[in-house]
Amino acid sequence: KRRDDGLSRDLYQLMEEANNYYRSQLRSHNDRQKVLDYLDLRGLSQEVVDKFGIGFAPDGWDGLLSRYRNNQDAQDKLLTGGMLIAKDSGSRYDRFRDRLMFPIRDRRGRVVGFGGRVLGEGTPKYLNSPETPIFHKGNELYGLYELKQAHRDPQKVLIVEGYMDVVALAQFDVDYAVASLGTSTTADQFQLLLRNAKEVICCYDGDRAGFDAAWRALETALPLLKPGDQVRFIFLPQGEDPDSLIRQIGKDAFEELISNAKSLEAFLFDTLTEQYGTDKGNFAKQAIVLIEKIQDTVLQNLLLEQLSHKLGMNNADDVKKKLGFNAKPQQPMSSNKGLKGRGT
Ligand code: ATP
Ligand code: MN
Ligand code: MN
Ligand code: MN
Repeated sequence: KRRDDGLSRDLYQLMEEANNYYRSQLRSHNDRQKVLDYLDLRGLSQEVVDKFGIGFAPDGWDGLLSRYRNNQDAQDKLLTGGMLIAKDSGSRYDRFRDRLMFPIRDRRGRVVGFGGRVLGEGTPKYLNSPETPIFHKGNELYGLYELKQAHRDPQKVLIVEGYMDVVALAQFDVDYAVASLGTSTTADQFQLLLRNAKEVICCYDGDRAGFDAAWRALETALPLLKPGDQVRFIFLPQGEDPDSLIRQIGKDAFEELISNAKSLEAFLFDTLTEQYGTDKGNFAKQAIVLIEKIQDTVLQNLLLEQLSHKLGMNNADDVKKKLGFNAKPQQPMSSNKGLKGRGT
Protein backbone atom coordinates (compact mmCIF):
# COMPACT_ATOMS: atom_id res chain seq x y z
CA LYS A 1 0.00 0.00 0.00
CA ARG A 2 1.35 3.42 -0.95
CA ARG A 3 1.86 5.72 1.95
CA ASP A 4 0.25 9.13 1.73
CA ASP A 5 3.33 11.18 1.07
CA GLY A 6 1.38 14.24 2.12
CA LEU A 7 1.91 13.13 5.67
CA SER A 8 5.65 13.17 5.28
CA ARG A 9 5.83 16.64 3.83
CA ASP A 10 7.44 19.08 6.15
CA LEU A 11 6.69 22.74 6.37
CA TYR A 12 9.67 23.75 4.22
CA GLN A 13 8.46 21.47 1.48
CA LEU A 14 4.95 22.86 1.69
CA MET A 15 6.25 26.42 1.49
CA GLU A 16 8.18 25.46 -1.64
CA GLU A 17 5.02 23.89 -3.06
CA ALA A 18 3.08 27.05 -2.29
CA ASN A 19 5.70 29.04 -4.17
CA ASN A 20 5.50 26.64 -7.10
CA TYR A 21 1.74 27.03 -7.07
CA TYR A 22 1.99 30.87 -7.18
CA ARG A 23 4.50 30.66 -10.00
CA SER A 24 2.29 28.32 -11.97
CA GLN A 25 -0.63 30.73 -11.54
CA LEU A 26 1.47 33.50 -13.03
CA ARG A 27 2.00 31.29 -16.09
CA SER A 28 -1.49 29.94 -16.55
CA HIS A 29 -4.25 31.60 -14.51
CA ASN A 30 -7.08 33.26 -16.42
CA ASP A 31 -6.37 36.52 -14.64
CA ARG A 32 -2.65 36.44 -15.39
CA GLN A 33 -2.84 39.25 -17.95
CA LYS A 34 -3.50 41.83 -15.26
CA VAL A 35 -0.43 40.58 -13.40
CA LEU A 36 1.68 40.73 -16.55
CA ASP A 37 0.40 44.27 -17.07
CA TYR A 38 1.40 45.17 -13.55
CA LEU A 39 4.87 43.65 -13.99
CA ASP A 40 5.13 45.67 -17.15
CA LEU A 41 4.07 48.84 -15.37
CA ARG A 42 6.75 48.21 -12.74
CA GLY A 43 9.27 47.43 -15.46
CA LEU A 44 10.09 43.94 -14.22
CA SER A 45 11.52 41.53 -16.77
CA GLN A 46 10.62 37.87 -17.09
CA GLU A 47 14.23 37.09 -16.26
CA VAL A 48 14.21 38.82 -12.90
CA VAL A 49 10.75 37.43 -12.10
CA ASP A 50 12.20 33.96 -12.60
CA LYS A 51 15.38 34.74 -10.72
CA PHE A 52 13.44 35.69 -7.59
CA GLY A 53 10.67 33.16 -8.11
CA ILE A 54 7.98 35.81 -8.12
CA GLY A 55 4.44 34.46 -8.51
CA PHE A 56 0.76 35.31 -8.36
CA ALA A 57 -1.77 34.44 -5.67
CA PRO A 58 -5.13 34.55 -7.49
CA ASP A 59 -8.22 36.13 -6.02
CA GLY A 60 -10.46 33.73 -4.12
CA TRP A 61 -10.48 32.05 -0.73
CA ASP A 62 -9.17 28.63 -1.54
CA GLY A 63 -6.69 28.75 -4.39
CA LEU A 64 -3.90 27.24 -2.33
CA LEU A 65 -6.21 25.50 0.13
CA SER A 66 -8.01 23.50 -2.55
CA ARG A 67 -4.76 21.78 -3.45
CA TYR A 68 -4.80 20.15 -0.03
CA ARG A 69 -8.53 19.48 0.22
CA ASN A 70 -8.02 15.91 1.42
CA ASN A 71 -4.83 16.37 3.34
CA GLN A 72 -5.57 17.61 6.82
CA ASP A 73 -1.95 17.27 7.88
CA ALA A 74 -0.69 19.51 5.09
CA GLN A 75 -3.41 22.04 5.88
CA ASP A 76 -2.40 22.09 9.53
CA LYS A 77 1.17 22.74 8.55
CA LEU A 78 0.25 25.48 6.09
CA LEU A 79 -1.72 27.08 8.89
CA THR A 80 1.37 26.94 11.09
CA GLY A 81 3.37 28.37 8.20
CA GLY A 82 1.02 31.35 7.96
CA MET A 83 -0.27 30.47 4.49
CA LEU A 84 -3.81 29.73 5.66
CA ILE A 85 -6.01 31.48 8.19
CA ALA A 86 -8.51 29.63 10.42
CA LYS A 87 -11.95 31.03 11.10
CA ASP A 88 -13.65 30.59 14.47
CA SER A 89 -15.77 27.91 12.85
CA GLY A 90 -12.57 26.00 12.15
CA SER A 91 -12.73 26.36 8.39
CA ARG A 92 -9.70 27.77 6.64
CA TYR A 93 -8.92 30.13 3.79
CA ASP A 94 -5.93 31.49 1.89
CA ARG A 95 -4.06 34.34 3.54
CA PHE A 96 -2.69 35.66 0.25
CA ARG A 97 -5.24 36.60 -2.39
CA ASP A 98 -4.94 38.64 -5.55
CA ARG A 99 -1.34 39.61 -4.89
CA LEU A 100 2.06 39.53 -6.52
CA MET A 101 4.05 37.08 -4.42
CA PHE A 102 7.68 37.47 -3.41
CA PRO A 103 9.06 34.31 -1.78
CA ILE A 104 11.47 34.97 1.08
CA ARG A 105 14.26 32.40 1.27
CA ASP A 106 16.53 31.67 4.18
CA ARG A 107 20.30 31.38 3.75
CA ARG A 108 19.96 27.79 2.63
CA GLY A 109 17.49 28.75 -0.06
CA ARG A 110 14.40 27.37 1.65
CA VAL A 111 11.19 29.34 1.26
CA VAL A 112 10.25 30.49 4.76
CA GLY A 113 7.72 33.24 4.06
CA PHE A 114 6.20 35.56 1.51
CA GLY A 115 5.56 39.19 0.85
CA GLY A 116 2.47 39.85 -1.24
CA ARG A 117 1.85 43.13 -3.02
CA VAL A 118 -1.53 44.36 -4.23
CA LEU A 119 -1.64 44.83 -7.98
CA GLY A 120 -1.95 48.57 -7.98
CA GLU A 121 -3.73 50.56 -5.28
CA GLY A 122 -5.12 48.93 -2.15
CA THR A 123 -4.38 48.25 1.47
CA PRO A 124 -2.35 46.88 2.92
CA LYS A 125 0.08 47.53 0.09
CA TYR A 126 2.20 44.63 1.27
CA LEU A 127 0.97 41.67 3.21
CA ASN A 128 3.78 39.74 4.84
CA SER A 129 3.90 36.28 6.38
CA PRO A 130 3.41 36.35 10.14
CA GLU A 131 6.12 35.10 12.48
CA THR A 132 6.12 31.29 12.30
CA PRO A 133 8.36 28.51 13.60
CA ILE A 134 10.47 28.87 10.44
CA PHE A 135 10.12 32.60 9.77
CA HIS A 136 11.47 35.29 12.05
CA LYS A 137 11.42 38.61 10.27
CA GLY A 138 14.28 40.13 12.20
CA ASN A 139 16.64 37.29 11.27
CA GLU A 140 15.99 37.07 7.56
CA LEU A 141 17.03 39.36 4.76
CA TYR A 142 15.14 39.33 1.50
CA GLY A 143 17.52 38.64 -1.36
CA LEU A 144 20.47 37.34 0.68
CA TYR A 145 20.20 33.87 -0.76
CA GLU A 146 20.04 35.21 -4.31
CA LEU A 147 22.97 37.53 -3.58
CA LYS A 148 25.09 34.66 -2.31
CA GLN A 149 24.26 32.68 -5.43
CA ALA A 150 25.70 35.51 -7.50
CA HIS A 151 28.60 36.39 -5.18
CA ARG A 152 30.06 33.72 -2.97
CA ASP A 153 32.20 36.30 -1.20
CA PRO A 154 30.58 39.70 -1.72
CA GLN A 155 32.70 42.79 -1.20
CA LYS A 156 29.74 44.99 -0.38
CA VAL A 157 26.07 44.63 0.41
CA LEU A 158 23.40 47.25 0.03
CA ILE A 159 20.51 47.28 2.52
CA VAL A 160 17.29 48.67 1.12
CA GLU A 161 13.72 48.86 2.41
CA GLY A 162 11.66 46.84 0.00
CA TYR A 163 11.27 43.80 -2.17
CA MET A 164 10.81 45.94 -5.25
CA ASP A 165 14.07 47.74 -4.56
CA VAL A 166 16.04 44.48 -4.40
CA VAL A 167 14.45 43.14 -7.55
CA ALA A 168 14.73 46.36 -9.56
CA LEU A 169 18.38 46.79 -8.60
CA ALA A 170 19.09 43.19 -9.61
CA GLN A 171 17.47 43.83 -12.95
CA PHE A 172 19.95 46.66 -13.44
CA ASP A 173 22.77 44.31 -12.50
CA VAL A 174 23.20 45.77 -9.03
CA ASP A 175 22.85 42.24 -7.70
CA TYR A 176 24.13 42.80 -4.18
CA ALA A 177 21.13 44.33 -2.42
CA VAL A 178 19.01 42.85 0.34
CA ALA A 179 15.93 44.17 2.12
CA SER A 180 15.35 44.16 5.83
CA LEU A 181 11.79 43.00 6.18
CA GLY A 182 10.46 45.83 8.24
CA THR A 183 11.17 49.46 8.80
CA SER A 184 14.41 49.08 10.70
CA THR A 185 17.37 46.83 10.24
CA THR A 186 17.95 44.68 13.30
CA ALA A 187 21.23 43.89 15.07
CA ASP A 188 20.94 40.28 13.92
CA GLN A 189 20.60 41.40 10.34
CA PHE A 190 23.62 43.68 10.61
CA GLN A 191 25.67 40.95 12.20
CA LEU A 192 24.72 38.59 9.43
CA LEU A 193 25.71 41.11 6.78
CA LEU A 194 28.97 42.09 8.42
CA ARG A 195 29.89 38.41 8.54
CA ASN A 196 29.26 38.18 4.81
CA ALA A 197 30.75 41.39 3.48
CA LYS A 198 33.36 43.97 4.41
CA GLU A 199 31.16 46.86 3.52
CA VAL A 200 27.49 47.36 4.33
CA ILE A 201 25.74 50.31 2.73
CA CYS A 202 22.37 51.48 3.99
CA CYS A 203 20.21 52.92 1.25
CA TYR A 204 16.75 53.67 2.56
CA ASP A 205 14.02 55.68 0.88
CA GLY A 206 14.42 59.40 0.35
CA ASP A 207 11.78 60.41 2.88
CA ARG A 208 11.49 61.09 6.59
CA ALA A 209 10.88 57.41 7.40
CA GLY A 210 13.96 56.48 5.40
CA PHE A 211 16.12 59.00 7.21
CA ASP A 212 14.86 57.82 10.59
CA ALA A 213 15.57 54.24 9.56
CA ALA A 214 19.13 55.26 8.70
CA TRP A 215 19.62 56.87 12.09
CA ARG A 216 18.26 53.81 13.86
CA ALA A 217 20.57 51.69 11.72
CA LEU A 218 23.53 53.75 12.90
CA GLU A 219 22.55 53.24 16.53
CA THR A 220 22.06 49.53 15.94
CA ALA A 221 25.37 49.12 14.15
CA LEU A 222 27.59 50.98 16.65
CA PRO A 223 27.92 48.17 19.22
CA LEU A 224 28.68 45.62 16.52
CA LEU A 225 31.43 47.42 14.69
CA LYS A 226 34.97 46.10 14.57
CA PRO A 227 37.96 47.85 13.00
CA GLY A 228 37.84 47.30 9.26
CA ASP A 229 34.06 47.02 9.14
CA GLN A 230 32.56 49.66 6.97
CA VAL A 231 28.99 50.79 7.38
CA ARG A 232 28.05 53.61 5.08
CA PHE A 233 24.93 55.52 4.11
CA ILE A 234 23.32 56.80 0.95
CA PHE A 235 20.63 59.47 1.09
CA LEU A 236 18.36 59.49 -1.91
CA PRO A 237 16.66 62.55 -3.37
CA GLN A 238 13.34 63.39 -1.73
CA GLY A 239 10.58 61.04 -2.83
CA GLU A 240 12.83 58.48 -4.49
CA ASP A 241 13.65 54.93 -3.53
CA PRO A 242 16.32 52.68 -5.05
CA ASP A 243 13.79 51.21 -7.48
CA SER A 244 12.53 54.56 -8.78
CA LEU A 245 15.99 56.11 -8.83
CA ILE A 246 17.90 53.47 -10.72
CA ARG A 247 15.22 53.51 -13.40
CA GLN A 248 15.83 57.24 -13.80
CA ILE A 249 19.58 57.48 -13.59
CA GLY A 250 20.77 53.98 -14.56
CA LYS A 251 23.32 51.62 -13.13
CA ASP A 252 26.46 53.70 -13.53
CA ALA A 253 25.12 56.82 -11.85
CA PHE A 254 23.61 54.67 -9.11
CA GLU A 255 26.91 52.95 -8.46
CA GLU A 256 28.52 56.37 -8.38
CA LEU A 257 26.23 57.16 -5.44
CA ILE A 258 27.29 53.95 -3.79
CA SER A 259 30.95 54.77 -4.09
CA ASN A 260 30.29 58.22 -2.62
CA ALA A 261 28.27 56.86 0.29
CA LYS A 262 28.74 58.70 3.56
CA SER A 263 30.82 57.06 6.25
CA LEU A 264 29.14 56.24 9.53
CA GLU A 265 31.29 58.83 11.32
CA ALA A 266 30.38 61.53 8.86
CA PHE A 267 26.68 60.69 9.16
CA LEU A 268 26.95 60.79 12.93
CA PHE A 269 28.80 64.08 13.20
CA ASP A 270 26.93 65.80 10.36
CA THR A 271 23.56 64.93 11.84
CA LEU A 272 24.54 66.17 15.28
CA THR A 273 25.94 69.34 13.77
CA GLU A 274 22.66 69.96 11.98
CA GLN A 275 20.74 69.27 15.14
CA TYR A 276 22.81 71.28 17.60
CA GLY A 277 24.51 73.84 15.44
CA THR A 278 26.76 75.96 17.60
CA ASP A 279 25.58 74.39 20.86
CA LYS A 280 28.87 72.57 21.41
CA GLY A 281 27.81 71.36 24.83
CA ASN A 282 24.89 69.34 23.59
CA PHE A 283 26.74 68.34 20.48
CA ALA A 284 29.49 66.79 22.61
CA LYS A 285 27.05 65.21 25.02
CA GLN A 286 25.05 63.49 22.29
CA ALA A 287 28.19 62.43 20.43
CA ILE A 288 29.46 60.78 23.60
CA VAL A 289 26.20 58.96 24.18
CA LEU A 290 26.62 57.42 20.73
CA ILE A 291 30.35 56.76 20.96
CA GLU A 292 29.82 54.98 24.25
CA LYS A 293 27.75 52.39 22.39
CA ILE A 294 30.84 51.25 20.50
CA GLN A 295 32.26 48.13 22.11
CA ASP A 296 35.50 48.01 20.18
CA THR A 297 38.01 50.26 21.93
CA VAL A 298 40.21 50.91 18.90
CA LEU A 299 37.25 52.13 16.95
CA GLN A 300 35.92 54.04 19.91
CA ASN A 301 39.17 55.92 20.31
CA LEU A 302 39.16 56.76 16.63
CA LEU A 303 35.77 58.41 17.00
CA LEU A 304 36.84 60.20 20.16
CA GLU A 305 39.83 61.49 18.27
CA GLN A 306 37.55 62.89 15.60
CA LEU A 307 35.27 64.36 18.21
CA SER A 308 38.18 66.08 19.89
CA HIS A 309 39.04 67.86 16.65
CA LYS A 310 35.44 68.96 16.16
CA LEU A 311 35.51 70.43 19.65
CA GLY A 312 38.85 72.13 19.14
CA MET A 313 40.56 69.81 21.60
CA ASN A 314 43.85 68.05 21.04
CA ASN A 315 43.04 64.37 21.18
CA ALA A 316 40.86 61.57 22.52
CA ASP A 317 42.42 61.76 25.99
CA ASP A 318 41.41 65.38 26.15
CA VAL A 319 37.80 64.46 25.46
CA LYS A 320 37.88 61.72 28.05
CA LYS A 321 39.29 64.03 30.70
CA LYS A 322 37.24 67.08 29.98
CA LEU A 323 33.95 65.44 29.14
CA GLY A 324 33.97 62.56 31.57
CA PHE A 325 33.87 59.89 28.95
CA ASN A 326 33.11 56.52 30.41
CA ALA A 327 34.79 54.02 28.13
CA LYS A 328 33.36 50.94 29.81
CA PRO A 329 29.84 51.87 30.91
CA GLN A 330 29.11 48.26 31.90
CA GLN A 331 31.85 48.25 34.58
CA PRO A 332 31.46 49.60 38.10
CA MET A 333 32.08 53.30 38.52
CA SER A 334 34.56 52.78 41.37
CA SER A 335 37.32 51.85 38.93
CA ASN A 336 37.24 55.23 37.26
CA LYS A 337 36.42 57.68 40.01
CA GLY A 338 36.47 61.25 38.94
CA LEU A 339 34.96 60.49 35.59
CA LYS A 340 31.41 60.69 36.73
CA GLY A 341 30.53 64.22 35.93
CA ARG A 342 29.65 64.91 32.37
CA GLY A 343 29.69 68.66 32.72
CA THR A 344 30.14 70.30 29.38
P1 ATP B 1 6.40 49.77 -3.96
O1 ATP B 1 7.47 50.35 -4.81
O2 ATP B 1 5.80 48.53 -4.52
O3 ATP B 1 5.38 50.77 -3.54
P2 ATP B 1 8.15 49.92 -1.69
O4 ATP B 1 9.12 48.86 -1.31
O5 ATP B 1 8.67 51.15 -2.29
O6 ATP B 1 7.08 49.22 -2.65
P3 ATP B 1 7.55 51.21 0.79
O7 ATP B 1 6.28 51.89 1.09
O8 ATP B 1 8.76 52.02 0.58
O9 ATP B 1 7.23 50.25 -0.44
O10 ATP B 1 7.80 50.15 1.94
C1 ATP B 1 9.04 49.46 2.07
C2 ATP B 1 8.82 48.06 2.56
O11 ATP B 1 8.10 48.09 3.78
C3 ATP B 1 7.98 47.18 1.65
O12 ATP B 1 8.73 46.53 0.66
C4 ATP B 1 7.40 46.19 2.60
O13 ATP B 1 8.34 45.19 2.93
C5 ATP B 1 7.18 47.03 3.82
N1 ATP B 1 5.80 47.55 3.82
C6 ATP B 1 5.32 48.64 3.20
N2 ATP B 1 4.02 48.82 3.41
C7 ATP B 1 3.65 47.81 4.21
C8 ATP B 1 2.43 47.42 4.81
N3 ATP B 1 1.30 48.10 4.62
N4 ATP B 1 2.43 46.34 5.61
C9 ATP B 1 3.55 45.64 5.82
N5 ATP B 1 4.74 45.94 5.28
C10 ATP B 1 4.79 47.00 4.49
MN1 MN C 1 9.54 53.64 2.37
MN1 MN D 1 9.01 51.70 -4.29
MN1 MN E 1 9.95 52.52 -1.14
